[in-house]
Amino acid sequence: MTATFDVPVLIVGGGPVGLALALELGLRQQRSLVIEQAAGVAELVSKAGTLNERTMEICRRWGISDEVAASFPGEFPMDNIYCTALDGHLIGHDPRPSAHDRSPPSSTPEKLRKCPQMTFDPLLARAVIRTGFSTIRYNTRFEAFVDDASGVTATIRDVRTDEATTMRSRYLIACDGAGSQIRKALGIAFPGKELGRSTSILVRAANVEKYHQLGLANRYMFIGLKGTWANLTSVDGLDLWRFTAIAGEDATDLASAEQQVRRAFGPNAPFEVVRLMHWRRSACTAERYRVGNVFLAGDAAHTTSPTGGHGLNTGIGDAFTLGWMLDAVLRGWGGKHLLDAYEQERRPVAIYNSSISTQNFQNWLGAADWSLIYDHTPEGNEARKRIHVQLTDSLKQEWYSHGVALGYRYEQSPIIIPDGTSQPPMDISNYAQTARPGHRAPHAWLPDGRSTLDLFGQGFVLLSFEANASEAAKLGEAAVGKKVPLQIVEIDSPAIAALYERKLVLVRPDGHCAWRDDSFPGDVGELIDKTRGAISALEKAPTGEAKLREMT
Ligand SMILES: Cc1cc2nc3c(=O)[nH]c(=O)nc-3n(C[C@H](O)[C@H](O)[C@H](O)COP(=O)(O)OP(=O)(O)OC[C@H]3O[C@@H](n4cnc5c(N)ncnc54)[C@H](O)[C@@H]3O)c2cc1C
Repeated sequence: MTATFDVPVLIVGGGPVGLALALELGLRQQRSLVIEQAAGVAELVSKAGTLNERTMEICRRWGISDEVAASFPGEFPMDNIYCTALDGHLIGHDPRPSAHDRSPPSSTPEKLRKCPQMTFDPLLARAVIRTGFSTIRYNTRFEAFVDDASGVTATIRDVRTDEATTMRSRYLIACDGAGSQIRKALGIAFPGKELGRSTSILVRAANVEKYHQLGLANRYMFIGLKGTWANLTSVDGLDLWRFTAIAGEDATDLASAEQQVRRAFGPNAPFEVVRLMHWRRSACTAERYRVGNVFLAGDAAHTTSPTGGHGLNTGIGDAFTLGWMLDAVLRGWGGKHLLDAYEQERRPVAIYNSSISTQNFQNWLGAADWSLIYDHTPEGNEARKRIHVQLTDSLKQEWYSHGVALGYRYEQSPIIIPDGTSQPPMDISNYAQTARPGHRAPHAWLPDGRSTLDLFGQGFVLLSFEANASEAAKLGEAAVGKKVPLQIVEIDSPAIAALYERKLVLVRPDGHCAWRDDSFPGDVGELIDKTRGAISALEKAPTGEAKLREMT
């Protein structure tokens, strides 16, 4: 009997990662339902604000990158200012260009952007609805589930009527945040480091720069006798700011929050506390991302210190990866190893990004001689200069993390066929493009003005550089036989051919290189089978004798 489902994919959590997955699935014409316990998209949430270059490339695929870019004033300076208070000593000023004054790096068509989560989440939700394939149900709490071999039965409750219903889906995806009830129910360990409690205070302060001499900046870092104790970051490039008191300087109630902000603002600058948000800083990664038909994504799978802005960006990468894999399996061309590749590919990325974020946090706290920080003498000036040099140097990897955004790669994946070249080292701030299997396929501008990245997204794409057309067509035939969507694109550009380094490069629907060489192996069917997860690329090819045994 064929199982019937209310919806193929049930997504728990309507935060950015749940919405991103629903959007990716919707654009692939796959139905999903997002359930969210809150009454609507989060308003006045001042968590994530930085979307890195890879997330912006994904937004480009989703057709929303212009809307994201327009959500924060392009001319707003991205400078960092270190000070004892807005009316106190200036410790140092590091200029960073605004979005208007900055071109994208040569390795990407998109720039890193500021986009507050309170804008990004509704923008995603609107895009999800526009697909016509995914639905979002608010005021709906997920309560329990039973996973059997053929699917998942979930109990959900309408929080307004208290009415419980059950629904059946092929897959259940936990995008229910760091405290994930689903992760706990599955008994998945979440090891890592607790880095303390913190409080973010959303503050409305119009024209705050008029009340001090430091100049306008995206972020002010406040340094005291024990080192960095708080920071103030622009949320919307207008009058909303997020003031974060870091561990040990907690502001648990409104009165102490106001006191903390006043300490940073000085006696004259007016402000209004809009909202307090208490949160735990941690760096944990789930030991498994999948159990049966249930998957974890986003903060449910990993937490990072916000220092560096990698949490949401890592979660968007999860959703983007899981989206094409689920689609492939639901359409029947994805093989039995495909969904296992999700954990093997994404978990190492989370572990790396989380460790970098923890290092960034430790760099904030730093180890310096802070004793003269408030001193009005020439020795005080010298001490502040030294501290500025030290902070600029140690925080560089937080502000410039292009290598983290684009340099991640999928090693030891069952659906990536290695080409025998060794891994380039990870570099936090710099990224040199490579078409080595497992890496994001390089960007270059095509003669018609599109990026090479604009070629990817639907099915697989075989890029053919000076390759024999009938040779390239062989793979097309093998793909048709296995119902794998594949497009062959011939590129006549020596510069792009040099960037991709081989005559034939097979790119996956998520824009990662799966295989490359100058000619096909003898069995192109096996190549397709490995990249679609029907045969694990990690298994050694059977020897002649074993092949004979399998056949008999
Ligand atoms: C101060 C701060 C600044 C940050 N800045 C950045 C940044 O600049 N860049 C960046 O990349 N990241 C940043 N982050 C991290 C980022 O905010 C998170 O990584 C991101 O919100 C995770 O998204 P998510 O969808 O996985 O989880 P969440 O945003 O936590 O969403 C989970 C959703 O699930 C819902 N839910 C939970 N349980 C249930 C249930 N039982 N039934 C129904 N619904 C349920 C919740 O209501 C919630 O809406 C920051 C975080 C903080 C705290």
